[in-house]
Amino acid sequence: MQSRWDDAEAQALIDHYGARSFSADLALRIYSTRLLGRDKRLVLHGGGNTSVKTRMHDLNGELVDVLCVKGSGADMAAIEPGGLPALRIAPLRRLRTRETLADADMVRIQRANLIDPAAPNPSVETLLHAFLPATYVDHTHASAILSVVDQVDGMARAEEIFAGRMGVVPYIMPGFALAKAAAAIFDAAPKVDGLILDKHGLFTFGATAREAYERMIAAVSLAEARIARARRRVFANAALPGNIASATALAPILRGACSRAYATREGAWQRPILELRTDAQIRHFVDGGRLRDFALRGVVTPDHAIRTKNWPLIVETPVAGGLNEYKPYARATVDAFVARYRSYFEHHNARVGGDRRMLDPMPRVVLVPGIGLYGLGPSKKDACIAADIAQAAIEAITGAEAIGRFQSISEADMFAMEYWPLEQAKLGAASARPLAGQVAAITGGAGAIGAATARAFCAAGAEVALIDIDLARAREVAAAVGGGAVAIAADVTDAPAVTRAFDAVVENFGGLDILVANAGAAWQGRIGEVEEKILRASFELNFFAHQRCAQAAVAIMRAQGTGGCLLFNVSKQAVNPGADFGPYGLPKAATLFLVRQYALDHGADKIRANGVNADRVRSRLMTPSFIAERARARGLGEADYMRANLLGYEVTADDVAQAFLHHALALKSSGDVTTVDGGNIAAALR
Ligand code: ZN
Repeated sequence: MQSRWDDAEAQALIDHYGARSFSADLALRIYSTRLLGRDKRLVLHGGGNTSVKTRMHDLNGELVDVLCVKGSGADMAAIEPGGLPALRIAPLRRLRTRETLADADMVRIQRANLIDPAAPNPSVETLLHAFLPATYVDHTHASAILSVVDQVDGMARAEEIFAGRMGVVPYIMPGFALAKAAAAIFDAAPKVDGLILDKHGLFTFGATAREAYERMIAAVSLAEARIARARRRVFANAALPGNIASATALAPILRGACSRAYATREGAWQRPILELRTDAQIRHFVDGGRLRDFALRGVVTPDHAIRTKNWPLIVETPVAGGLNEYKPYARATVDAFVARYRSYFEHHNARVGGDRRMLDPMPRVVLVPGIGLYGLGPSKKDACIAADIAQAAIEAITGAEAIGRFQSISEADMFAMEYWPLEQAKLGAASARPLAGQVAAITGGAGAIGAATARAFCAAGAEVALIDIDLARAREVAAAVGGGAVAIAADVTDAPAVTRAFDAVVENFGGLDILVANAGAAWQGRIGEVEEKILRASFELNFFAHQRCAQAAVAIMRAQGTGGCLLFNVSKQAVNPGADFGPYGLPKAATLFLVRQYALDHGADKIRANGVNADRVRSRLMTPSFIAERARARGLGEADYMRANLLGYEVTADDVAQAFLHHALALKSSGDVTTVDGGNIAAALR
């Protein structure tokens, strides 16, 4: 591992923060914290922290000695001064004389000593930083160090490799007791560069930011060198079937198996988002003949438990053509996982007094021999975090097995960490947005209605895929919508392109719950004279594309077995034809009937089908020149033309989006059509 320290970059940050009245001490603390945070081999998702001891003015203007330590929830890779809250250090150090300190008291005392009372909670490892005398203290859960210490004899191996350069601390859960023990070990050997924490990670320290950082790199490099000298092929392959099913075919089945119906609301499901990872190292691990043995021994560092649980779910390799039988197998395997989790919880909860509430028991990581690993979470972001951590765990376990025998902390220690209220706080308040965990695909996603619908669905917590023939524009819309929306190119009148697009939705999110079949275009022509090819072109886009996309969606939804929602942009033309709009209205009338046919044929699959009849919405169909021409033909101004309805309001793309959102949430409505036209009795459904 190479040092990435660069004096010019460090100076640039000193100048940047100096201009904002932050000290050089803090600027350098920010610089090396970012260096550590940007290397996944060192730090992942809150697994690490740093501090600096310095002086600053408190709110009374008095100069005080402080510890600036990483705050809970701050991302080390992009840390700012606000992510390193300052605490008065003297009262923290006095705590060392105590025998014990309850976690709740520790948190209260830390908060009481914040210079800024509005600052975030300081790290749960704050006292360890405070009790060590060095100006700069760095802490990571580097994978290579975990390979060395996650061993039956981890402490002895660390002693051997670091030969007195690092102190070695036995496993103790983070908090006051660990801080005291670490400080005592440092006091006994104050010349060390840092401390190795058995089954947890390492601390390095120094008089300068650079010294602490370079010692981190040196210590991790020593561990890496030890692993590099070990054997390369660690796991012997299992015999896998030759005709393995595709990850795209498997994902919806796994997603369905890892979903649960809410007991409190019929028709509502708790669904995970899936993130697939696979590469040579992952395959070497998951394809191993003794995967169950290695993968089920526990976490590689305690704070992984809250993200990935203590164990992954392992499923058998799916065989192409055998997925119908695989579905009940996957469900039974998830049920067994949940039952094991429940008994683990009940056993340890009873042991510690029975006052904890069981967390969501569903798996967060699924390992599939022959395919790779899936990270699971209530959002794409959470799924990626679980996948990142699972990947780091595979790296650490592979390294550990290369040099010895991987061993985790005890189940009781894992429970203590997983159910530690201070650790739970890292996850933040779970968002209970109404479409959380649901995946929506929107065709015509780059148009006005597609974009407005994407915004509304993202705001409601859904993961959104924008499918459009214009990829560049769809990307712009996805970027503007934010919330992790993705853009996928497809001409929905082309069957292979539709197949590829829905495969891409599954690759991104693991499945699909809501289809908004929205792509359309208006063809005109007097029906007695119009060319047949115009009529056929309109049917291709305004009817067959809806049918093709709905079929693709239904196939995914049925594989999941958790229902679904099909939404069609129908148009008022379907019930109230406009003069010369036959080529547009006829396929839309067929699409109106399609809504009812899907509602009828797939109600048994718990798939709902509903339509929205919008009228006169500014969009790619209703271009400014089109509007001007229609308004002129009616002898109206443009604004009056757009408001020519019973309410006298102009209908916007956002109004249409709200109707789609309503149907996505209305769990007991199917076969319905909602009008969004400002009121038009001639277009009313009866
Ligand atoms: Zn730690």
